[in-house]
Parts: sequence; C-alpha cells; structure tokens
Amino acid sequence: MKKQFAVIGLGRFGGSVCRELYQMGHEVLAIDTNEDRVNNFSRYSTHAVVANATDENALQSLGIRNFEHVIVAIGDNIQASILCTLLLKELNVKQVWVKAQNQYHHKVVEKIGADRIIHPEHDMGVRIAHYLVSEKIIDYIELSPEFSIVELIASRKVSYQTIAKLDIRAKYGCTILGIKRGEEVIISPPPTHEIFENDILIVIGHNNDLKRFEDEGL
Ligand code: ADP
Repeated sequence: MKKQFAVIGLGRFGGSVCRELYQMGHEVLAIDTNEDRVNNFSRYSTHAVVANATDENALQSLGIRNFEHVIVAIGDNIQASILCTLLLKELNVKQVWVKAQNQYHHKVVEKIGADRIIHPEHDMGVRIAHYLVSEKIIDYIELSPEFSIVELIASRKVSYQTIAKLDIRAKYGCTILGIKRGEEVIISPPPTHEIFENDILIVIGHNNDLKRFEDEGL
C-alpha cells in the first residue's frame, strides 16, 4: 500500500530515508532550508520544497497535517528540531519520528510527544559491534535491552536436520521466525522443515539464549 511521508532535513540520514521510501514507491515530500539539497532531491522525492520547518505558517501551507508520518531529520540544530517536532504534534501529525543528537535532545522531544526517537550512529554502532564479534551474525535488531532478533548462518552442524530434531525452542529458548535460502524466504517454518548449511535463520529470543544457541547450537 502506498503511504505518504514527509522528510524534514535532507542530510545524510534524512536523505537516505527519503530516497529509500521513494524508491519503495511511496509518496515523499522532501523539505529543507537548503536550496541545493532540495534541488538534488527533486529526483528522489515526489515533491521537494525549500521551507523552514520551524515556521508554522510554512508547515501549514505545505499541508503537513495531512501526512500521517513525518520524519524530522534536522541534524545539528537541536533547537530547530525541537521546535519543529512541537509544531508537528500541535498540528496533530500522527507519527512524528525524530533523529536525536544526544540524550538531552532525546528527553525533550520525548516529552513533547515524538512517537519514535532514533539515534542512527548509536544504533548502527551497536549492530556493527555484533557483526564484528560473530561471523555467524548477519543482522541484529534490538527489541529491548534483553530481547533481540538475529539473523544467523546455519553451519554444517545443523545441516539436513529438521527444526523438530534440533529442538531449538526447548534447548535454547529461541524461536525461528523465518529462514532465508537464496531468494526464498520461509516464514514460520513448520517443525518438519529441514535446514541446510548456509541457510540464514531469523531467530528471536533473550540475548543470553541467542548467544548460547549461536555458540553451542550452530
Ligand atoms: P546528517 O547528520 O543526517 O547528515 P545534517 O546536519 O547534515 O544531518 O542535515 C540536516 C539538514 O537539515 C540540512 O540539510 C539542513 O539544511 C536541514 N535543516 C536545518 N534546519 C532546518 C529547518 N529549520 N527546516 C528545514 N530543514 C532544516
């Protein structure tokens, strides 16, 4: 389903979000005060406009209240990011996601109603650390401080065995959500499903259990 998004601030982060959403076929309104950046993004958005997102009238005339989802990706200018978030929430935008620079910024936008606060450098750093320590981990998503979803490569040890035989849930307390095999993705594989070496297992669980499965099970 096509969705409507507005991305405010077209730096590295906002720019990537904008381009990716547009390439996925969604409608994206791209906003920045910098004319060069806006011109650059006319190719990667449905509409790209020069506007100051801390100006309530400017936001109103862009019809921002009709967008269900707005991403505030104003970088260093924390004051502008806060003011913009406040205006968007006052205009009743349902989902306002904000890129935060630091914990102070996080706290303030949380208080004024940001629906999700993103720390791209921090989050990416955490993910990269997980890839670094294990050659088996392909991807890592933190659900909470204790629970995660990881993508692990199936080793020869588990090859040609069914999920039931491996008994991963009972032995390790983890659940296989899906298996990627080349282009194919098997969602909720049945217990009779056979695993092959180099399959990518998408596994959810407590971090300690996931670690145990990765170290001992694979
Ligand atoms: P990143 O760290 O993601 O690269 P930048 O600081 O480079 O972020 O980019 C932030 C963008 O936000 C810049 O292109 C800047 O022009 C834009 N910006 C800053 N203030 C406003 C504002 N009030 N309204 C709209 N865009 C803004």
